[in-house]
Amino acid sequence: MTTGRRADDNRGNGALMVHDFAVIGGGIVGLSTAMALGQRYPGARILLVEKEDGWAAHQTGHNSGVIHSGIYYKPGSFKARFCRDGNASMVEFCRAHDIPHEICGKVIVASDAGELAQLDVLHARGLANGLDVRRLTREEVTEIEPHVHSLAGLHVPSTGIVDFAAVCRAYAGIIERQGGDLRLGTKVVALRQVPDGHTLETTAGHFRARFVVNCAGLHSDRVARLGGVDPGARIVPFRGEYYELVPERRHLVKALVYPVPNPDFPFLGVHFTRMIDGSVHAGPNAVPGLKREGYRKRDISARDMAETLAYPGFWKMAKKNHAEGRKEILRSLSKKAFVRSLQRLIPEVTADDVVPTHAGVRAQALLADGRLVDDFLLVPGPTSVHVCNAPSPAATSSIEIGKAVVEALPDQPHLTSVHRSATP
Ligand SMILES: Cc1cc2nc3c(=O)[nH]c(=O)nc-3n(C[C@H](O)[C@H](O)[C@H](O)COP(=O)(O)OP(=O)(O)OC[C@H]3O[C@@H](n4cnc5c(N)ncnc54)[C@H](O)[C@@H]3O)c2cc1C
Repeated sequence: MTTGRRADDNRGNGALMVHDFAVIGGGIVGLSTAMALGQRYPGARILLVEKEDGWAAHQTGHNSGVIHSGIYYKPGSFKARFCRDGNASMVEFCRAHDIPHEICGKVIVASDAGELAQLDVLHARGLANGLDVRRLTREEVTEIEPHVHSLAGLHVPSTGIVDFAAVCRAYAGIIERQGGDLRLGTKVVALRQVPDGHTLETTAGHFRARFVVNCAGLHSDRVARLGGVDPGARIVPFRGEYYELVPERRHLVKALVYPVPNPDFPFLGVHFTRMIDGSVHAGPNAVPGLKREGYRKRDISARDMAETLAYPGFWKMAKKNHAEGRKEILRSLSKKAFVRSLQRLIPEVTADDVVPTHAGVRAQALLADGRLVDDFLLVPGPTSVHVCNAPSPAATSSIEIGKAVVEALPDQPHLTSVHRSATP
């Protein structure tokens, strides 16, 4: 397992080694980007800094662990393309590196007649995205998931499950073998432009880099601003809470069971997910977070809250979505309300069958006019690029996102032909 090194050799202000690239953030996007840089520019000096003591400590390590298929996304969007291709490259990566995963498929079910039209829209979208998607009758849904109530459904066989933290550890191992410099426990606190790039001031010393890639997830907007770049959006944290089925009721779910998404709120709608360790999770909901990296209900950060509440985009979003927002908050405060949502999918589930488990926090970029940024957002700066929105399915798509970030970089004149890979 890769543990990373600390920056003791870089303490003080002596002559610093100049890295060709510095990647900020050891989540799945930062690690995949550093790995892609190493593939594109063999021999380049690549630094990756992560403020925590392990990889995947935030969004990547607190998610549903689903290798998505790409059925939901608008044909032609980055999300649709990255997810379809990313599903294939993630599965290939897991096979090549012996990472436990399973292509278990998923069902999406219409629970009432009002959802049937949207189920057809989703079916057409899946086909337009080039996926293998099959329409199911109620009986066919029951053959796959005997305990699920539905009027009809879709089957998406390419959806799978994996532990994305294990994927990150494998990415880190590859970066080390490429000669990359991985630093855990290294938080960037200032980012100064200098004539040939940036100086990164961190809690573990100073570093120099000619080009910086910011993959700081929940802090990506702040890191962009540290570097003098206006991201044009603010990260607003949304907590996603999960329950899990008690072991004796896990048999109620064979694989993955999802509701038809509301087209206006595609990331809402609790679902059942069998995890790669055999447990079955139910969730997540989506409620405004009181702290960017706050996983418990009682976690509050005065700074994070003040920034969110002072942002006009937050109030515009809240006004537009107050009805849905109230339902989500109710589901967060009341187990009964949460279980009612689960019973739409599996009527047999009772409050005694589920216990609270982990929560995750989504880094959602919000525009000043109150619109949520739906797709990936890359903001270029002078000698830097900032990944300021990498929402689900970014874990699934991480290999494709890493390659795309590297392709989007301006030409790197400081890298000699020795450093340039023959393959694009
Ligand atoms: C509840 C939930 C469920 C999800 N389910 C799925 C799913 O099933 N499938 C899927 O494909 N996607 C899913 N996603 C989305 C996916 O998890 C994220 O899109 C992805 O993990 C984003 O990765 P990241 O590297 O951008 O961010 P992160 O994993 O948050 O990594 C950012 C890293 O930057 C570090 N950092 C921040 N500031 C600094 C600093 N100043 N200096 C140094 N380091 C810093 C942080 O410590 C962190 O480790 C889900 C997300 C959530 C929240």
